[in-house]
Amino acid sequence: MCDLAQESQKIYEDISKFESLDFGFKKEGLMLLFQKQKTLQEAIGFFYLLEQEGIEHQVLEEKAAKQMEPSIKKALGAIYYPKDAHLDPSRFMFALKQCLSKMGVDLLEHIRVLDFVSVGNKIKSAVTTNGVLSANKIILCAGAYTASLTKKLKVHLPLQAAQGHSLLYAKNSLSPKNSLILEDAKITVTPFSKGTRYAGLLNLCSLQQSLSTKKAMKIKHGVAKFLKDPIEKVQHDEMWSGLRPCTPDGVPIISQVRCYPNLFVATGHAMLGMTLGPMSGKLIAELSLDRATSLSVNGFSLSRF
Ligand SMILES: Cc1cc2nc3c(=O)[nH]c(=O)nc-3n(C[C@H](O)[C@H](O)[C@H](O)COP(=O)(O)OP(=O)(O)OC[C@H]3O[C@@H](n4cnc5c(N)ncnc54)[C@H](O)[C@@H]3O)c2cc1C
Repeated sequence: MCDLAQESQKIYEDISKFESLDFGFKKEGLMLLFQKQKTLQEAIGFFYLLEQEGIEHQVLEEKAAKQMEPSIKKALGAIYYPKDAHLDPSRFMFALKQCLSKMGVDLLEHIRVLDFVSVGNKIKSAVTTNGVLSANKIILCAGAYTASLTKKLKVHLPLQAAQGHSLLYAKNSLSPKNSLILEDAKITVTPFSKGTRYAGLLNLCSLQQSLSTKKAMKIKHGVAKFLKDPIEKVQHDEMWSGLRPCTPDGVPIISQVRCYPNLFVATGHAMLGMTLGPMSGKLIAELSLDRATSLSVNGFSLSRF
């Protein structure tokens, strides 16, 4: 997973240099804030293990953390990871789409895959809301919905949807400057150019979910415990919720499907789809083209379940 994250960051860097694409990619580090001694100690142990993988970090006391991030109201301590980066996902997707169109890739939008046509162990085509589309190889990456599609082929994918909420607020003089994780509240804070994004909650759920103001309030309360940013008193500019695709072991599935050799699956990235996506994309492309993979994919195989 570490390799997947580190290689993905390099790919984001490359993409941002390609035609000077601007999607808010900033390599400015990440600070994890703690209010409970137990979670801080566990994280220090975890980061000690990551240090062996070459991932450097600094443990900060409250005073040092506040100097680095003046928006902190209360924290027992922090872990600062200087080499982390952040970006604006919606700007990234927009830039990627433009790039792919320029490269001559056909993007068929607003079309739903309903079923597949297979002959023996080969999938011949996908039945969609826009007719039947033939393909030599098929890569399924429909997020939390992927399992409902493999079910049509009687392929079991152990995937659970988990809803998360995101709130965007206009910047003010008390907005955080750094990318943060409010660890004990499980909230991520990202400074975008258009405002500050607060995201969090992991509610295991069905595929039919809608926005919940009550759940969003939990994010506001969590933020108020850690930060001075007065978001409890103001209206958000934007609010959305989405489903994360989760596997039982928390590790993504990047794999060929054994019983259908021309079918490939890339899903299960849970809370780390942006962090791990680019390298996952590269690996599934290599697998589907029968090329040697840049990283070992054994740990991501569907056959581990
Ligand atoms: C609130 C929130 C905050 C998050 N914050 C972060 C973060 O800070 N960092 C991070 O790394 N990750 C974050 N994530 C996780 C990240 O968004 C997911 O891991 C990622 O989106 C998963 O990518 P995916 O392509 O597998 O699935 P998705 O992004 O869900 O994309 C699946 C696509 O498949 C399409 N689809 C589904 N069914 C069909 C069908 N039948 N036919 C055709 N198309 C179909 C969907 O419309 C969708 O476009 C966050 C998630 C949420 C909800």
